[in-house]
Amino acid sequence: MNVAVIGAGTMGNGIAHVFAQFGHQVLLIDVAQERLNMALATIEKNLQRQADKGVLPAEEIPLVLQRIQTSTEYKEHLLEPCALVVEAATENTVLKTEIFRSLDSLCKPSCILATNTSSISITQIAAATKRPDKVIGMHFMNPVPVMKLVEVIRGYSTSDDTCRFIMETARSLGKTPVEVRDMPGFVANKILMPMINEAIITLWEGTAGVEEIDTVMKLGMAHPMGPLQLADFIGLDVCLAILRVLHEGFGNPKYAPCPLLVNMVTAGKLGVKSGEGFYIYTPGSKELKVSPSFHK
Ligand code: NAD
Repeated sequence: MNVAVIGAGTMGNGIAHVFAQFGHQVLLIDVAQERLNMALATIEKNLQRQADKGVLPAEEIPLVLQRIQTSTEYKEHLLEPCALVVEAATENTVLKTEIFRSLDSLCKPSCILATNTSSISITQIAAATKRPDKVIGMHFMNPVPVMKLVEVIRGYSTSDDTCRFIMETARSLGKTPVEVRDMPGFVANKILMPMINEAIITLWEGTAGVEEIDTVMKLGMAHPMGPLQLADFIGLDVCLAILRVLHEGFGNPKYAPCPLLVNMVTAGKLGVKSGEGFYIYTPGSKELKVSPSFHK
């Protein structure tokens, strides 16, 4: 099938990778050409990694890459053949409703419009279109080629057919879909983000340092990654955006983002994608070093 992926950032490149790997023709759209270039380089690197691990035959790599076409514009003739669009642009309600409004006018009436949003109301995004029955949440986990879960979120008007289609599509990509209701943060982030926020508050209060907090959660709770490293990996701007949705959506002060998180995002310290968050990230180095801002 022809699939369009909107946004070529952390998630968009992984979603494009997986659809192309499973034989689909992918149109990857991002407003920034450099994000498209970076996405193609990342996909090639990750395909090579899969080949090195024996997950994918090496001769498949050029075939998978050939299935991905890129564009910086929403062109009707490119979107027209698509049976499915998965939107993975920046976590911002105004931006996403704008994108869905234009997708609704450019895509054929039968096309399913899915969003990879981490927390924004599917019902609200669907309301920007004239096809709310065909709008649904298809929430992949990071890194997409590796993580098995897809949270499938039904909006108020999502039809059974749309839900069935997305559940089957997720299974055909080797994923395990789980159907949930449309509430702020759904299930994954309703539980994960308060934990990450609490880890940041614990650091901000001075109870322990970055490495100590992450070590307690890794060795004490058997988490594969500490919450501060995970926040860097997700993107601190994404974490902040999700906490704001939870805070506003439930009106409960327990979701208020830690001021340290707000300051870090304002200072452009976004984690892995900007090269610095709670840790610093040097290209080519696997060593995890705490950011100098948090040296004791
Ligand atoms: P990101 O910042 O890495 O990438 C977002 C991309 O969207 C950027 O490349 C940006 O140029 C592009 N963009 C902005 N406006 C656009 C437009 N009008 N049209 C097309 N592209 C546009 O963000 P991300 O981490 O990949 O997150 C994308 C979505 O996935 C968000 O909704 C986020 O909540 C969700 N998500 C993120 C994670 C994660 O771990 N980062 C996990 C699951 C879901």
